[in-house]
Amino acid sequence: MAVSGEQYISRIDHLNNDVWINGKKIEGKLSNHPAFQGVLKSKAVLYDLAISKKDMFTFKSPFTKNDVNFSFQKPETKEDLEKRMVATQEWAKTNLGLLGRSPDYVNTGIMALAGSSLLFKKKNKMYDANITNIYNRAMENDLSFTHTFINPQVNRSISYIDTSDNIIAAKVVRETHDGIIIKGARLLATQGGITDEVLVLPGGGNYVEDCYIYAFAIPSNTPGLKFICRESFVYNDSEFDYPLASRFEEMDSIVVFDNVLVPWDRVFLYKHFDKAFNIFSETQFNTMLLFQAVSRMIIKTEFILGLSESIVQCINISEFQHVKDKMSEIITALEILRSLLLSSVHHAKLNDKNLMIPDSNPLNAAINYYPKIYPRLVGIIQLLGGSGLILLPNDKQFNSPLRSYLNNYLQGTNSTAEEKIKLFRIAWDLCMSAFGTRQTHFERFFFGDPVRIGMGLYSGYPKERYIDMVNKFTTKT
Ligand SMILES: Cc1cc2nc3c(=O)[nH]c(=O)nc-3n(C[C@H](O)[C@H](O)[C@H](O)COP(=O)(O)OP(=O)(O)OC[C@H]3O[C@@H](n4cnc5c(N)ncnc54)[C@H](O)[C@@H]3O)c2cc1C
Repeated sequence: MAVSGEQYISRIDHLNNDVWINGKKIEGKLSNHPAFQGVLKSKAVLYDLAISKKDMFTFKSPFTKNDVNFSFQKPETKEDLEKRMVATQEWAKTNLGLLGRSPDYVNTGIMALAGSSLLFKKKNKMYDANITNIYNRAMENDLSFTHTFINPQVNRSISYIDTSDNIIAAKVVRETHDGIIIKGARLLATQGGITDEVLVLPGGGNYVEDCYIYAFAIPSNTPGLKFICRESFVYNDSEFDYPLASRFEEMDSIVVFDNVLVPWDRVFLYKHFDKAFNIFSETQFNTMLLFQAVSRMIIKTEFILGLSESIVQCINISEFQHVKDKMSEIITALEILRSLLLSSVHHAKLNDKNLMIPDSNPLNAAINYYPKIYPRLVGIIQLLGGSGLILLPNDKQFNSPLRSYLNNYLQGTNSTAEEKIKLFRIAWDLCMSAFGTRQTHFERFFFGDPVRIGMGLYSGYPKERYIDMVNKFTTKT
């Protein structure tokens, strides 16, 4: 059943996950820790919204008839896809599209994996039942997941595998009656430690040995599982100083498996090279995740447009030709993304499992486009903001004897200094703070290496009919 924000936070607090930050294990409630307070509250807003607007954010579970989260719904019609798009976007609006891993992201992936469970059945009936159970449990309890599919960045040579006894990339070190034992590390779990469970998918590169080929989902508090967090980008608790980071800093972590027992009933892929290799495309996992991601990117781009125009008006620069040109670049990006998403729905088709799958080509085009255009979009904000993005007194300065100076010298065309600085601090936190640069890095990499994503689009794109056009023309002439 769909849970409330309070239920979600209380559940995460009670898991007592093994989360480390600044060299210390977090003792006590994660929701009281400054690094996680903001993001947990922002996620709680999502859960509360879902139960307050059930028509938009839930559907009836086919098994229990409970109201369950929209992200678990298997789309069977184009209307289902449209409903999913609207719900994703309404959720994203609460965080301006800045929560890249809102719960609907991985939930959607689990739905796709379970929707293609026959893929796993072909090899082993147990795996089919396991992914179905993982999905059902997640749906009925409104669980949230982090996920990991990256091995540590030690040596990216294609043929590289750990050869020494010192295990680095997480692998199966033993099989027991109860399950598989995993040792080693995985990168990079955004929100690792603040989700109910961890979804572990085949990592790239070293499929050459069976011990690296596995997929499973386990609770975040499974013994031996550790989350080592990077530095937090919430540098103080002032929402004025860090308007975005204080609310939406998601955190990223290394996931360490210290001889973690993964019970057999949690494993849904093991030792099958061909399945591991194709899991993301054959199950429509990638396409469905992209559908969520592009829906969110549109909201983020709408926010960027609104923020840029607010800066333009605040310092009255709209008459300049290059400013109009830059603003039109943002509008163009927004309209391209919207069109790609709608095109994916328009050309959606039922697959052999009776799921309505959006057309992957426009979505793949979007995931090639956004990592390139996003740095330009934040670059435009920097160019429009000029020095206003640097001279940003903080909360303490505004509440000091300097206030009258600041009020005078930092006012906008039609705004008080405080209003102007509030706006420019948002822009700074999006483009220039540690939080903001991480956002840019996220948009470049969150779906994988942009270089290989581009190669994938080229290789998989149906090009024959265009060659035919040329051939027909050349034979005529
Ligand atoms: C902010 C952020 C959040 C993330 N969140 C998650 C998450 O929640 N879950 C998760 O699993 N992952 C997450 N990722 C990881 C993301 O999936 C990876 O960053 C991405 O897949 C690229 O892998 P890598 O970072 O290991 O880069 P690498 O693969 O090490 O690439 C480094 C450089 O080497 C080049 N290179 C390496 N190998 C090849 C090759 N074979 N061919 C051509 N060029 C190559 C790349 O093009 C790149 O320039 C996140 C990443 C970031 C930055």
